Amino acid sequence: MFSLRRLFSNSAQKLTREEVFAIAKEVHATPWDSAKEPGIAVPAYDGMTSELEQYLTPNGPAGYTKPDRRKRPTKIANSALELVGNTPLIRLDRLAKYLGTECEILGKCEYYSAGGSVKDRIGLRMIEEQERAGLLQPGDTLIEPTSGNTGVGLCMAGALHGYNVIITLPQKMSGEKVNMMKSLGALILRTPTEAAWNDTNSHLFLAMRLKAKIPNSHVLDQYLNKGNPLAHYEGTAEEIIEQCDGHVPHMVMTAGTGGTLSGIAAKLKQKCGTTIVGVDPQGSILALPEHLNDEDKFKAYHVEGIGYDFIPTVLQRNYADVWYKSKDPESFAYARALIRHEGLMIGGSCGSAIWGVHKYIKEKGLGKGDRVVCLFADASRNYMSKFLDDDWMTKSGFSLDPLPPTGMNV
Ligand code: PMP
Repeated sequence: MFSLRRLFSNSAQKLTREEVFAIAKEVHATPWDSAKEPGIAVPAYDGMTSELEQYLTPNGPAGYTKPDRRKRPTKIANSALELVGNTPLIRLDRLAKYLGTECEILGKCEYYSAGGSVKDRIGLRMIEEQERAGLLQPGDTLIEPTSGNTGVGLCMAGALHGYNVIITLPQKMSGEKVNMMKSLGALILRTPTEAAWNDTNSHLFLAMRLKAKIPNSHVLDQYLNKGNPLAHYEGTAEEIIEQCDGHVPHMVMTAGTGGTLSGIAAKLKQKCGTTIVGVDPQGSILALPEHLNDEDKFKAYHVEGIGYDFIPTVLQRNYADVWYKSKDPESFAYARALIRHEGLMIGGSCGSAIWGVHKYIKEKGLGKGDRVVCLFADASRNYMSKFLDDDWMTKSGFSLDPLPPTGMNV
């Protein structure tokens, strides 16, 4: 047994995982008091900096060396981490036919990654960057504010590399993600969904409080960590270019932190002159021009993992040539259609993305001979008790009708 008083007074000594988690639970259970915990603040995120943007250029800033690209083993893998990324690109002819278009639609299916989402790539990359810099020791604690998928990626890499992981997570995120991260050995601390990003109750603020209290702890911070867009600039985008033999005229992606969009967009624009479409949920403020965000600004929505009430440092909003604002009913209807017609076991934000594809095809009048690539960020696994469940859909006020339910904005 141990006493919390001893733990708090002994900050230099290496604590056990159990002791670290005890401190974290105590901090979470105690309202923040500025007198007792001075100097806590979340970073002043304000969109991409020129310093970070230098990494999204062919040579990177002076002194930067690119790590080797990970290849998917074709024989025996040494660990699950070797199976992060290198995901398949799938032609969606059946869905295209159902939607009545002859445009070729290709889906980059990130749920085939070892942890089931696009964020495995950055969980691993942020840890590897920190290790390369000599800043992590086994037994250290990683604390990350996330909507869940980065958490799964970090928990998986943390479990295999020997770190304690604490995830701060808004209440809205699915129980499936929570159980997955717990099974990977992490401590999950929930925060109110309605807390603004810089509120003292937010998942970002809690992460900073924990970092101040827990010795040998690190917040890798996906909202500003260069490893986030770089994982996509050097990895995801190169895979797409190879899979398409360089022919990527149009690419559609949702945005959360924006690391996926910034990293992929920068590379595709440089190498293929691609037109980029960003999809941001109604309620969020990531889209440009600004007035697109006015309707239902800051209003809650159900789709997980996309949209924010601040502009993360890793997001360069100007990289999207067009932004669309997605709504929950369309997102879930399109996600269910994608599962039903293509057998792709994707998550809710993939519905927002494919809705964006359909809208773009219609607006631009694309057809035979045209190609649109779309990124599918995560897996149905995360939402078995949510949009995969008819009862949840009905109780939450969503239609079970196949596409296109009346009144949908496509
Ligand atoms: N979809 C889902 C389900 C996600 O979890 C995320 C990550 N938050 C995204 C899309 C967007 O990815 P990014 O953070 O790179 O913008």
